[in-house]
Amino acid sequence: MKAVSLKQTGETPELEMVDLPVPSPRVDQALVRVSACGFCHHDRSVMAGLLRRGVAGNVVLGHEISGLVEAIGSGVTSLRAGDRVVSILTESCGNCDRCAAGHEHRCRNGLGIGHGRDGGFAEYVALSEHSLVRVPEGVDPIGAALLACPMGVALQAVQETALVQPGEAVVITGASGGLGAHAVQAAAALGARVLAVSSSPEKENALRRLGADEVLINNGSEETGLGFDELVMAMTGDEGADAVIDTVGSALYPSTLRCLAQYGRLVLLGEVMGRRVSLNPAEVIFRDARIFGASGVSRAMVEQAGRMVAEGKLRPVIDLELPLEQVSDAYRLVSERKPVGRIVLLPNAAGRA
Ligand SMILES: [Zn+2]
Ligand SMILES: [Zn+2]
Repeated sequence: MKAVSLKQTGETPELEMVDLPVPSPRVDQALVRVSACGFCHHDRSVMAGLLRRGVAGNVVLGHEISGLVEAIGSGVTSLRAGDRVVSILTESCGNCDRCAAGHEHRCRNGLGIGHGRDGGFAEYVALSEHSLVRVPEGVDPIGAALLACPMGVALQAVQETALVQPGEAVVITGASGGLGAHAVQAAAALGARVLAVSSSPEKENALRRLGADEVLINNGSEETGLGFDELVMAMTGDEGADAVIDTVGSALYPSTLRCLAQYGRLVLLGEVMGRRVSLNPAEVIFRDARIFGASGVSRAMVEQAGRMVAEGKLRPVIDLELPLEQVSDAYRLVSERKPVGRIVLLPNAAGRA
């Protein structure tokens, strides 16, 4: 099968198409023919050499996998050949206390798909049945690739971590990115007033179509982090935001903290630049603020995202579909922050059986 190999990390990484054996599923695994695999910022960070921890040598990247079950191991009970599936982000064991508690993404024996073990930038991938969720009727196979990351991840951050309530003011940073575009929709679907922060004025209309009530163009430089907290204060009658879903991280700090209302919740969901910030504890204390980190997504949340797509409450935002061979183009476009939503790679687009 064809697969992408990361030969050399760097600002312009060396990516090569290679021929690998089709993986044989273990007794508890299914062999999935990959229909689509999203190109995540995570993949970009690994390719650029910014993210190294836990990355397996010669790993096939890509964790946003949708596909068709082609074969199953003898111990698999929940899936059969022909099922349409989407992967969660971690290959999980289904047996440990975390898996039993519905935190499969924090499996004690888990390996990150397309990180600690091979992922979906290939024609086939073998994954445990516990790592695969059935795609509901009515969700197309390409959009389905986004059900776990970024849709489920964004939904989990908004609904379960930030506990967003109807009528609350919610700031989403990096609003046109993969996580952001789906966090905007999730917050709007929960009845929040959505304030979308973006650095690109040309994306305003797209953000309004996703459900943003206000679009704040952040003109502050990444070095100063200046910008949008005063705008948020002005738009909320000096109350501030009840929740901030931050997909950008250090580049927008401390605006993300300063725009919080009393009892505000800041969810740190993405870190683009990999830099340190300096925290003034008083800024947290006097707001009675709460700061959360969040990543990954449980099976239950992926299932909920699937139902919401089938019901028309969420929609996968796909900027561009590319054959696997154009992975370098995906890398370049994501590095330039061009896409609204995701670029997805189609490993079997060439029509090979
Ligand atoms: Zn992702
Ligand atoms: Zn487990």
